[in-house]
Amino acid sequence: NADTAMYRAKQQGRNSFAFYTHALTERSVQHLKMQSALHLALPKEEFSLVYQPQIDLHDGRMVGVEALLRWHSEDLGSVSPSDFIPAAERIGLIDEIGLWVLREACEQGARWLAQGLHFGRIAVNITGPQLLKENFVGEVGRILAQSGLPTSALELEVTENFMIQNPEESIQRLRQLRGMGVQIAIDDFGTGYSSLSYLKRLPLNTLKIDRSFVSGLPKDQDSRAIAEAIISMGHSLSLTVIAEGVEHRDQVGFLSDHGCRLAQGYLFGRPVSADKIAELLVTDARCHVTD
Ligand code: C2E
Ligand code: MG
Ligand code: MG
Ligand code: MG
Repeated sequence: NADTAMYRAKQQGRNSFAFYTHALTERSVQHLKMQSALHLALPKEEFSLVYQPQIDLHDGRMVGVEALLRWHSEDLGSVSPSDFIPAAERIGLIDEIGLWVLREACEQGARWLAQGLHFGRIAVNITGPQLLKENFVGEVGRILAQSGLPTSALELEVTENFMIQNPEESIQRLRQLRGMGVQIAIDDFGTGYSSLSYLKRLPLNTLKIDRSFVSGLPKDQDSRAIAEAIISMGHSLSLTVIAEGVEHRDQVGFLSDHGCRLAQGYLFGRPVSADKIAELLVTDARCHVTD
């Protein structure tokens, strides 16, 4: 009857409400756990860097490496940078973590060079807020000097989206860094909407074609059109163009045919330890494309 129907509806309502709050609580508990674990990650030395080779498609040689941050938390296990970097930004830890990454990468680069291992350049990702921090440029200079890494061996990667949101401040900071001799790459390129006229004003060395376009090559029409446009845009501005996330041989064919000479991706090598990179350099292992 009507009463029992009403009762049932209320029960269900209450249950789904309870379920909903339970799910929310679960998520915020996870967030809180990550936050408190992040606060301890540096002192507990839970961070490390891995390095992914960047390859010249003409001869298969390594022309550089991208440093990528890894966090193995005692409490949470391995956490992806795509999850913990935004969290670190929210809780104000990104500057400290970012400086740790820079120092570690520059010191590693200097160690390789001291061993006679010529890795080309080392690319380090930085977040937008880090770039705009008051003393960032000074810190980069200090870290370079202390590590002994030649300034031109360091490349900083900033995402296109951040630069577009903060065009004038970004230009100013990047000019200071370029002035010191640091190289600048624009990461995840193609996902934002930079105009050619804005790009022209940025003191850049490198455009990195975002993986989302590379993955559609060579079949997907839109990916082809976008990749071609980025490559010719880069060349018209005399920039180095590098494709990220290359996983298949036929992507290489398309890229080479269209004048993109550099690539990075699982096809050539996953991010690996510094020792593994040293091994590759010692044996002068060409990262040949294998079937
Ligand atoms: P990103 O800078 O665009 O780095 C490329 C990401 O793609 C890396 O993921 C890399 O491992 C992955 N990747 C490389 N080749 C392939 C491929 O062939 N296929 C696929 N599916 N993936 C590939 P990772 O290391 O998980 O990093 C994710 C993002 O986290 C990075 O994207 C970057 O935005 C951020 N990140 C990583 N390390 C740092 C850091 O030290 N500082 C800052 N600020 N951000 C970092
Ligand atoms: Mg990057
Ligand atoms: Mg990228
Ligand atoms: Mg990316």
